Amino acid sequence: MEYKRLGKSGLQVSRLSFGSWLTFGKQIGDTTAEDLMKTAYDGGINFFDNAEAYAGGKSEEVMGEVLQKMGWARDSYIVSSKVFFGADGGTGELAPTQKGLNRKHVVEACHQALKRLKVDYLDLYFCHRPDKETPIEETVWAMHNLIQQGKVLYWGTSEWSAQEIMEAHMVARQYNLIGPTMEQPQYNMLVRDKVEVEYRQIYKTVGLGTTIWSPLASGILTGKYNDGFPEDTRLGIEGMEWLKDRLLAEENLKKVKSLTEFSKELGVSMPLLALAWCLKNDNVSTVILGASKTSQLEENLTVFDKIPLLTDELMEKIEAILDNTPIRPAF
Ligand code: NDP
Repeated sequence: MEYKRLGKSGLQVSRLSFGSWLTFGKQIGDTTAEDLMKTAYDGGINFFDNAEAYAGGKSEEVMGEVLQKMGWARDSYIVSSKVFFGADGGTGELAPTQKGLNRKHVVEACHQALKRLKVDYLDLYFCHRPDKETPIEETVWAMHNLIQQGKVLYWGTSEWSAQEIMEAHMVARQYNLIGPTMEQPQYNMLVRDKVEVEYRQIYKTVGLGTTIWSPLASGILTGKYNDGFPEDTRLGIEGMEWLKDRLLAEENLKKVKSLTEFSKELGVSMPLLALAWCLKNDNVSTVILGASKTSQLEENLTVFDKIPLLTDELMEKIEAILDNTPIRPAF
């Protein structure tokens, strides 16, 4: 495993991390979840990602059970939660005060996550989306206070614009508060703009760290959907039709088919090619893996010796297949 500073912070995060969206408490059983976390930890992964909203809160409960059972030293791993969407406990119902980034919900969601995860503090606490109904100033104060109370160590954002992140930093500077350390954006061969263009300046100015999600675009970058619809996969889960429709667009499948041919010529499996491509970007602090089977995680953990294969020449060939180079401002 390789480790890297999370942005300009001193926190050493493993370059591969492990998350539980749509798997824990939903697609897989608790024994598989335990097996996956053990495989991750034994493979050197030190960051486990979670959120209040995953499986309505159940995902954090499953992870908390495993953390307690394993008894790993608390200072040997990093665990996160995210606030915004609320934890509906599977009911599909939330009161107006049970979501968003207002002080009340940010504080209460933190307490609830600590309980579900069975830990005394969250290493990372993310604002899962921007909240247009709460002044950023209120959220920055709430996060700062949680850090002062020892309940959170670092706070960050997810899918915020560069402008919103900078506004949080401006507020933090104005009142001498702790600003956001990291952002959690989607980044993979099919979705590139935020990581490659929008945040370009703030990696330098505020030292933004990134914990990227869906490196395999929910599995389509493994090539498993190239020739029809396989059984027992994420996009087959009931209620995931919106994701399926978005991802299995003709244009995406065409690119993945060409990439799969390319990966065969290279002698690297498609999942490893897609993960190595993400890790090659130096502004990516950690790539959050998802897995529904232990064999998938075991394969993904072997990605590091594939990165040096991606020479400039090969990256150009990939770029030609992807045909989605983000447009950068001229100056
Ligand atoms: P991926 O895009 O990597 O998708 C993971 C899925 O791909 C697996 O569950 C599995 O699905 C399939 N897969 C993984 N490895 C292999 C392999 N080697 N061979 C074949 N199939 C494979 O990541 P996720 O979308 O799961 O995102 C990772 C994490 O990021 C989440 O768990 C969560 O913590 C975080 N996240 C954050 C978001 C945010 O808004 N901040 C949003 C989404 C995720 P299958 O069961 O179909 O085989």
